[in-house]
Amino acid sequence: SSTADSVYRNDPLEEVGADKARVRVVVRVRPMNSRELERNDRTIIQMENDCSLMVQGAQHNRRFTFDSIFRNDSTQEDIFQNSGIKRLVDMSIEGYITTCFAYGQTGSGKTHTMIGPGGASVFRMDENYRIKHFGLVPRAINYLFQRLREKSQESHSPYYIRVSYCEIYNEQIHDLINPAHTQGLQVRGSVEDGFYVENLFQTYIETMDELLTILEEGELNRAMASHNLNDTSSRSHAMLSIQVEQDITESENSTEQMTRQGKLIFIDLAGSEKVKVSLSKGKQLTETNNINKSLLTLGTCISALSDPVKRAGHIPYRDSKLTRLLADSLGGHGITLMIACVSPSNSCESETLSTLRYANRAKNIENAPIVKTDSKENVINRLKREVRKLKDENYEL
Ligand code: ADP
Ligand code: MG
Repeated sequence: SSTADSVYRNDPLEEVGADKARVRVVVRVRPMNSRELERNDRTIIQMENDCSLMVQGAQHNRRFTFDSIFRNDSTQEDIFQNSGIKRLVDMSIEGYITTCFAYGQTGSGKTHTMIGPGGASVFRMDENYRIKHFGLVPRAINYLFQRLREKSQESHSPYYIRVSYCEIYNEQIHDLINPAHTQGLQVRGSVEDGFYVENLFQTYIETMDELLTILEEGELNRAMASHNLNDTSSRSHAMLSIQVEQDITESENSTEQMTRQGKLIFIDLAGSEKVKVSLSKGKQLTETNNINKSLLTLGTCISALSDPVKRAGHIPYRDSKLTRLLADSLGGHGITLMIACVSPSNSCESETLSTLRYANRAKNIENAPIVKTDSKENVINRLKREVRKLKDENYEL
């Protein structure tokens, strides 16, 4: 169909060659909010076509080109159909590590785009409202379940879906599914083998409703320590990880059962705005510094990876929790979509420019996607070890 064509038109795998995939970057411009309208703010973003826009700043005009640009009147369904997210879901089923992350200043529409208006409160609305307003995550999961039903009928091999949900706040990881079990969660692994959060709770899900419950409870569990009660989510990075597993037999005369583990990761990043010097001392000041640390390191990694010379050198993934967890997504073996969210208002000019410059750099990052398979035995042993460890810690499953 023509929709499918437009989704695959800018296929990063095809553009760079079969073994390379460029990070796909799309921009979403939200409508003016009521405050901006009341102040009679000026719109500084002019669309030139589906892929390029002009920022008409106070001093200069600046043109940017991306894989796709979504105007302020685009719907949640438009983003789902045309951002490339469906391809990420398809590739996760094939066994790839795929990541979709939302970047932008607080109030630019990251959570709206990922989950829906008002975040998880969208789940408490009636069905008609949900169908219209659901963000990318619920739409992607719905599509994932639909594709898996079709696929498992074809191959007669069942799929398993495991979900974990955590946030990085103040360089500490909190388990959003089981907040009681949140002490000292550590990132383990290596750039070569991939990083993961050790002991993070994972739960199997079989239905859409189970996932929605996780998202809703997770949101309630997000950090509450903030000096502005309205922006509890603006300082933490929320990471939802959906593991798609399938048992496969490599070839007819092979007896070893292999497991393919694809992943679909969604990250709602902390607000990208420069944090103004806060009058509060102590705790809140550290929060600011540490959150900057993850975002700053992300920026450093993106800059280095987007530079043809620097990318061959050392990339400082290890300098923050966020960048370790994103090592495969940026410059690694994964397939990645970045959604940069911006306000159209002149009052946001400098943050909007900063977001677009960032996004512009991310466009140049090349990944080398591969499918990692493991023997079923290894996967089971690993799970057993995890369960044993949790039991040792007297943790109630
Ligand atoms: P962020 O997560 O980036 O801080 P939000 O997603 O919470 O920002 O968006 C801030 C406000 O703007 C919310 O009330 C949200 O519903 C609204 N909003 C954001 N993007 C859009 C959009 N594309 N269309 C309509 N309203 C939007
Ligand atoms: Mg948000």
